[in-house]
Amino acid sequence: MQSTPSKTCAVIGSGVAGLAAAIRMQNKGYQTTIFEANAFPGGKLSTESLNGYRFDMGPSVFTMPHFADELFELSGKNPRDYFNYERLDPVYRYFFEDGTVLDGFNGMDQYAKEMASKTNDDEDTVLNYLKKTERMYNLTDEVFLHNSLHRAKNYFTKAVVKGLLNFGKIGAFSSMHNANNREFKDKRLVQVFNRYATYNGSNPYVAPATLNVISHVEIDRGAFYPEGGMHSITKALVQLAKDIGIEFRFSNQVNQIIVEQKTAKGIVTANGKEMFDCVVSNMDVYNTYHKLIPEVKKPLKTLNQPKSSSGIIFYWGIKKQFPELNLHNILFAEDYEAEFNAMFETKTPYHDPTIYINITAKHTSTDAPEGCENWFSFVNVPNNQGQDWDAFIDEVREAVIQKVNRILKTDIRPLIDCEMVFDPRVIENRTRSAFGAIYGNSSNNKFAAFLRHPNFSKKIKNLYFCGGSVHPGPSIPLCLLSAKIATDSVEN
Ligand SMILES: Cc1cc2nc3c(=O)[nH]c(=O)nc-3n(C[C@H](O)[C@H](O)[C@H](O)COP(=O)(O)OP(=O)(O)OC[C@H]3O[C@@H](n4cnc5c(N)ncnc54)[C@H](O)[C@@H]3O)c2cc1C
Repeated sequence: MQSTPSKTCAVIGSGVAGLAAAIRMQNKGYQTTIFEANAFPGGKLSTESLNGYRFDMGPSVFTMPHFADELFELSGKNPRDYFNYERLDPVYRYFFEDGTVLDGFNGMDQYAKEMASKTNDDEDTVLNYLKKTERMYNLTDEVFLHNSLHRAKNYFTKAVVKGLLNFGKIGAFSSMHNANNREFKDKRLVQVFNRYATYNGSNPYVAPATLNVISHVEIDRGAFYPEGGMHSITKALVQLAKDIGIEFRFSNQVNQIIVEQKTAKGIVTANGKEMFDCVVSNMDVYNTYHKLIPEVKKPLKTLNQPKSSSGIIFYWGIKKQFPELNLHNILFAEDYEAEFNAMFETKTPYHDPTIYINITAKHTSTDAPEGCENWFSFVNVPNNQGQDWDAFIDEVREAVIQKVNRILKTDIRPLIDCEMVFDPRVIENRTRSAFGAIYGNSSNNKFAAFLRHPNFSKKIKNLYFCGGSVHPGPSIPLCLLSAKIATDSVEN
């Protein structure tokens, strides 16, 4: 039973965190309105179609789905009436230039068996590693994911004290690469596990080994595929929001947050001023400060942290089916360290990049015409510092085509039926992410987790933040948690 709303809340942005924050605020008794600059919802979690092919434009790996389900349960609804998902097994197929193909199966035992049968490391080595990442996850999730790191009282709960007492065991003082390189003889396995740094746009050669917990989430807790593709998550959350009375204003960019007497009082759009009791910004926090509250003193140390990587994505309609490919495929660079040096040091794409190919038509046949496939071909690149992206797109397209041809022993060029391209500029414009960085600040130092902006404002009352650029970080599950922490901080 929902209480009659007596207070009002504006949510700026309908990314997955904005949708979740709005649903939580409505459930708290606030009549909530979502202002979205685009004509469509979802931000990065959105969809486009071209010539009979459908594409998910951003995220493709769905983990910890219970955080999404929680929003439906909180609203007294059955999540399965809105969307469904299946556990993937295997999750990934990894391709190397030497011809090795590894399947990343679901569950530690199966995973370790596969890796041991095709690499120079034995099953116990892989299993021990996976168990270590599980222990690390159990020590860190309460500390870093479920609570604000910015409220003193949160440091005195049992779980957090335990996590902090075990700080030495969570890999904060070693890089991911050094930790993984100590564990495995086989360089291919080091590469497989180093790749998890890219899940938040970081460099495994400098990011703390704590990030190795990401592999635990995917391999052991599972990766899922929502029926109909990733955009079903957005569709389901929008439907839920509408069902519980949230109002949507699409094509309605917020240009200012009204702040009076150090309190957020409303927002300004092209249609004028609207007053609210509370404002939650799902806009990238860097841009929230710079564009919506430019007069407020900026937390520069937080805002000026180095930003994450971005991406060049070729959404290709392919006039053929490739049985050797799966839903999630990785074609690895030969020299991984050089690829990250290019990304974070010289800030250019690398000539032999690691390529991620996602093909939802493997599970949802209607996503491509008969006999065809929808390829989301993604390459990590630096964020937008004004590089010549038009030139880079041509270079990266060529590198992707050549690598696919080499590894799959094919000629993909004549099979490309149609193409859409995203680059850091497009990502910046479409989602208002600062510098087109996909994941907000990078996690390239051991204090990065503490240097993400909190989910509330220390200076302005009734102003809250959610989304991939603030605590606890990017990805669908963490964005959903950011919305929970933000709205839990709202005083009733
Ligand atoms: C290519 C790619 C691949 C990814 N892969 C994965 C993956 O496999 N798994 C995973 O979990 N995550 C993945 N991610 C990360 C994940 O997509 C993001 O962390 C998450 O979707 C970010 O959500 P958000 O709530 O921060 O908002 P965003 O998606 O950034 O959306 C913000 C919304 O706010 C709107 N907005 C901004 N400013 C204003 C304003 N002033 N007024 C009105 N509206 C405004 C924007 O238009 C946008 O709709 C990927 C991202 C990308 C781009």
